[in-house]
Amino acid sequence: MQKILIVGGGSSGWIVASYLNAVLRRAGEPLVDIALIEAPGIGRIGVGEATVPTIRNVLQAIGVEEKTFMKEADATFKQAIRFNNWHHQHDDGYYHPFDRHAMGPVDRIGADWLSSDQKRPFSEFVSPQPQLCDLGLAPKMPGARDFASPMPYAYHMDAEKFADYLCRLATSRGVGHYQDRVTDIRVGETGHIEAVHTEGGLELKADLFIDCTGFASLLIEKTLGSSLVNYSPWLLCDRAVAMRVPYDQFFSGHIRPYTTATALSAGWVWDIGLVNRRGTGYVYSSQFLDDDDAAQELKAHEGPHADDIEPRLLKFYVGRREEQWRGNCVAMGLASGFIEPLESTGLYLVEYAALMLAEHFPYKKDSMPVLAARYNAILNQRYEEILDFVNLHYCLTARSVTPFWQEVQRPERVTERLAAKLDFWRHKAPSGSDFDDHLRLFSHQSYEHILYGMGFRADEAQKGISLGQPQSIANIVEAATPRLPRHEAWLHQELGHTIPPATQ
Ligand SMILES: Cc1cc2nc3c(=O)[nH]c(=O)nc-3n(C[C@H](O)[C@H](O)[C@H](O)COP(=O)(O)OP(=O)(O)OC[C@H]3O[C@@H](n4cnc5c(N)ncnc54)[C@H](O)[C@@H]3O)c2cc1C
Repeated sequence: MQKILIVGGGSSGWIVASYLNAVLRRAGEPLVDIALIEAPGIGRIGVGEATVPTIRNVLQAIGVEEKTFMKEADATFKQAIRFNNWHHQHDDGYYHPFDRHAMGPVDRIGADWLSSDQKRPFSEFVSPQPQLCDLGLAPKMPGARDFASPMPYAYHMDAEKFADYLCRLATSRGVGHYQDRVTDIRVGETGHIEAVHTEGGLELKADLFIDCTGFASLLIEKTLGSSLVNYSPWLLCDRAVAMRVPYDQFFSGHIRPYTTATALSAGWVWDIGLVNRRGTGYVYSSQFLDDDDAAQELKAHEGPHADDIEPRLLKFYVGRREEQWRGNCVAMGLASGFIEPLESTGLYLVEYAALMLAEHFPYKKDSMPVLAARYNAILNQRYEEILDFVNLHYCLTARSVTPFWQEVQRPERVTERLAAKLDFWRHKAPSGSDFDDHLRLFSHQSYEHILYGMGFRADEAQKGISLGQPQSIANIVEAATPRLPRHEAWLHQELGHTIPPATQ
């Protein structure tokens, strides 16, 4: 039986271990032998709290019960991202909901909205989800089936607890677990890794190694030399200061069923509500702001209750490995690359990589180069897709209050692919046929939410007709509002969490 050794036990290591252990089976019997090694002295990054709806497919494939997972990871629901002050310094904000609007034989929704008086934001025109988010409702009713809902949703969760939960689950199902630090890696004449050696004196051999060592990229980069394709010309942020705000320190009385991303002087701050605390962090560019000022700005944004909380500094790079799979080593998670967390794509890329590896699994050693070439092409395309989509959020800003926001508007800060799309969309509202890549995460509808939320308009004549809200959307909101519980009520009723009263 082939052996897989995963090096690194953060969220990526444990997602991959649990997923491959669940799906690489025939008639219930494992096809591979999986073990994971993590260094107890090297902590996880400890962030990665917002997800996208595909996480539900992965959790289902792993075979977890939704409520058990939610309790174990302190998870709450996420239905959208709300962007505040990205277009102007003080704007009304806009939503990027997960819900996808229904299209007719020809997708005219964008064009219809553009030719209307645009009094209602685009996202409300095409989806009930922004209004459900404003009302603070859960995406599903009490008693609904695991992972099922008419409204697409994802989760916010505690990253450490999530990894610990998957660790317990995977090891109880037969995944081997070593707690030791890898100090040396032996590479054979073929360029394949033969074994890793540990501080504790172990030698661990495998047929396939998965590098989940985070930004250390111990196997794929430091050992095999797969260098970084740098995305920093288009994405300027390279640091974050993050903090946890417990509800006994401050609680508004509501747990928002969406992520909030608010623009600040040299980047943006995320705000994520869990069951007993919020996670918040300022993602910024070190070219434009120093770390102490970033911490102060984050605390000032949060309010006086954060005076005693010391933010944690995280440094990161943006880019992807030239090859995610080199020789007999596949990198996943931060070891494989990173795009800043504006659209919560870090864990999605791990899920996707695990899925693609399962599909391209090298059961025969000599098929590895062919499978690796295709795998690398697919993963590179995903990275490039996400780069362009995140880039879109910045380049359309009309904020010019600080040098950072002036810089992100410059033409050289826009990828060529995205610039070509923006030119094209001056002539026609986006539709599915504008993209050749059918595996992409972000549909043309996601693009429309950001484009119109950020004030982009096609050159179509505006007729200024008043369209109001389409009846179908109004009907959904009207039908759903009395039936869906408030988010906090669902968490209390279904998971037994005690939600504290609002702080005075
Ligand atoms: C500021 C920020 C915010 C983010 N927010 C989000 C978000 O909202 N949503 C999202 O999806 N993603 C987000 N991400 C990305 C997300 O955090 C990661 O994709 C995810 O946590 C996976 O990390 P990892 O497992 O690859 O690395 P880590 O968590 O860093 O784990 C690395 C592991 O490798 C082990 N290791 C390292 N060296 C050795 C060694 N020599 N021997 C043995 N073991 C070793 C460590 O012990 C550890 O277990 C964010 C990232 C950052 C930087």
